[in-house]
Amino acid sequence: MTLKHSGSRGFRAYTSKHLDDLLKRADLDDVERLRIRAVATVLPFRTNAYVVDELIDWPSAPDDPIFRLVFPQADMLPADDVNRLADLLRLGAANSEINAVAHDVRMRLNPHPAGQLSLNLPRIGHEPVPGMQHKYPETVLFFPKQGQTCHAYCTYCFRWAQFVGEPDLKMASDNVDQLVSYLRAHPEVTSVLLTGGDPMIMGEPVLRRYVEPLLELEQLESIRIGTKSLGYWPQRYVTDPDADDTLRLFEQVVGAGKNLAFMAHFSHPKEMEAPVVETAVRRILDTGAVIRTQAPLIRSINDAPGTWARMWKRQLALGMVPYYMFVERDTGPQDYFAVPLGRAYEIFRDAYSQVSGLCRTVRGPSMSATPGKVCVDGVAEIAGQRVFVLHLIQARDPALVGRPFFARYDPKATWLTDLRPAFADRFPFEPAVPTARLSA
Ligand SMILES: *Cc1c(COP(=O)(O)O)cnc(C)c1O
Repeated sequence: MTLKHSGSRGFRAYTSKHLDDLLKRADLDDVERLRIRAVATVLPFRTNAYVVDELIDWPSAPDDPIFRLVFPQADMLPADDVNRLADLLRLGAANSEINAVAHDVRMRLNPHPAGQLSLNLPRIGHEPVPGMQHKYPETVLFFPKQGQTCHAYCTYCFRWAQFVGEPDLKMASDNVDQLVSYLRAHPEVTSVLLTGGDPMIMGEPVLRRYVEPLLELEQLESIRIGTKSLGYWPQRYVTDPDADDTLRLFEQVVGAGKNLAFMAHFSHPKEMEAPVVETAVRRILDTGAVIRTQAPLIRSINDAPGTWARMWKRQLALGMVPYYMFVERDTGPQDYFAVPLGRAYEIFRDAYSQVSGLCRTVRGPSMSATPGKVCVDGVAEIAGQRVFVLHLIQARDPALVGRPFFARYDPKATWLTDLRPAFADRFPFEPAVPTARLSA
């Protein structure tokens, strides 16, 4: 198969200094462009020439879903904050002044949801180990230092705080020996998930330094790589100079008897249209890796059942396995992107009912919250009361996995913390003291 145009071009990133020029391709006036730049002082912005030239349909911008996926929107943040920052930009205020205001706004956006920095931090002896999270017994997350950026940033990113120059919020490690020591001390861990950022931003020699030492560990059944690269830069597996070496590394993982789970983040079916994606997927699958797909449900980007049904069908046709539909997390511009849980469930069920059983490996809508991954199984009427039926797919406390529980139906609830228990005075993951409600 011959490769199309973009397949042979080198990677080229765009950052906030290119933002105004890029926005001129959309039908936006000066005031709107300034307000978008104001938002971009708070939230990270990065995209690349493939996304801009091949994926975005500019005549449809600003409504185009891929435009909304990577370009900040003027109304993503509270209007007062946006106006204040836009005024500073317009008056040519010093960067230090703009950054101070932007920092204030960020601190009001719950930068580290679900107790990420305190609750899940592993320790060797008494020493906390940076760049790792250990929330569920069998799985450790590792954030390789060189993998803490992406080929493009999603506007809804729940790890946005990592990318905006708030150094005290960063979590990352380049100490793979420490990871290996930790795993040896914790034989219950069977799966390591390399995440970020995007580990596939790393070149093959660097990625290899993180992956190879893990192959020695008998206890590991799987190595997962969480990545958006198939959507934002599929050339990574086809024409990049280290594409072939990367695939050899994947083969080596499989050859060592480990499941290499390539966890691909696709937000919209448009990300799977280019022929280069099909080639990339085939090349990855040829290594023996499994590609599982996941994405959050995002208002104004993918909040229609048909979008998800098309996405899952296309994934299946290409040989990928639908895995999770997530609920947008309680951080950053959540108010802007959130879909109420009741509606999220309807979208999930409607999409799920349109696809074959082979796509129904997908689970969701799932909230990755403090106690674990909470799945909204449905809305039911029980004993005259309208309730959400829920269960934990994953839990800090494995004893709670898979047990149904109930919350009072609330059409406006968008996150676990908005819910109140039904038929009980507390949720199963809450302590037995009724007054000490856990804030997720
Ligand atoms: C989702 C997640 C995992 C993986 O959970 P699975 O159900 O095994 O896919 C591991 N750790 C954290 C912190 C997670 O959020």
